[in-house]
This record gives sequence, C-alpha cells and structure tokens, in this order.
Amino acid sequence: MKCEMCDRPNKWSNWDIKEYRYWRVGLHPDQRYLGRSLIMLNRHAEDLLEMTQEERGELFQILRMLTDALTKLFSPNKFNYASLGNEMPHLHLHVIPRYASPRQFEEIKSMLEHIKTLVKEKNNNV
Ligand SMILES: [Zn+2]
Repeated sequence: MKCEMCDRPNKWSNWDIKEYRYWRVGLHPDQRYLGRSLIMLNRHAEDLLEMTQEERGELFQILRMLTDALTKLFSPNKFNYASLGNEMPHLHLHVIPRYASPRQFEEIKSMLEHIKTLVKEKNNNV
C-alpha cells in the first residue's frame, strides 16, 4: 500500500496539535477558514465505515473538544465536516469552521498555541 500519510508522517506533522490513541489532530495549512483542522487516523484505512467502535468513540470526543475550543476562540456560525479521500485516501476528516462575517487573527502560529492550550485545558478537565 502506497500512502503518503503513512509513508511520510512527518510531512503531515508540522501543524499537529495533539496525538490521541487512535487519531491525531492538526491545523490545516490553508487557514482561509480560520481554525480549519484535520483529524487523521493513526493507522491506514480508507473509509469511515472501516472505523472500529473505539476509533469512532474517540473521534466524536475529539470533535467535541476541537469544536468547543474553536468556538471559544473564533465563534464560528457553523462547522462543516468532510471526509473526502479523493486525493489523500488515508482516512481523515476536515473540520471547517464557517463564518457569517469575516474573522481575523494576527498570526497563525499564535493561533496554534492558543488551540493547543485550550485542548490541553479541556483534556485536563475530562
Ligand atoms: Zn495511510
């Protein structure tokens, strides 16, 4: 199996926020939708229906923590969730905050630190 995400994991880790048992979370490099994030499965699979029950449970916990953190930071009006896999077949989800009015944030790097802090705080409270 030739998979860019499995073969070159460091290429995808520059924007990592946190690694969980089954998934890891990172910011998407394209921040036109401020806070856009990726949730990537730690093992190779290509379809949502290949998830185990444990992976599914953890995914929904991560979705709750991530969307809570993004809501606290940027107050998006809605979230879009996408699992496409057309160009990158390795199972991953896009979490895309959507805004009715423009949002600005001075430095992406600063935003990454804020999100990491919020996710850590959330994890410590679980
Ligand atoms: Zn893979």
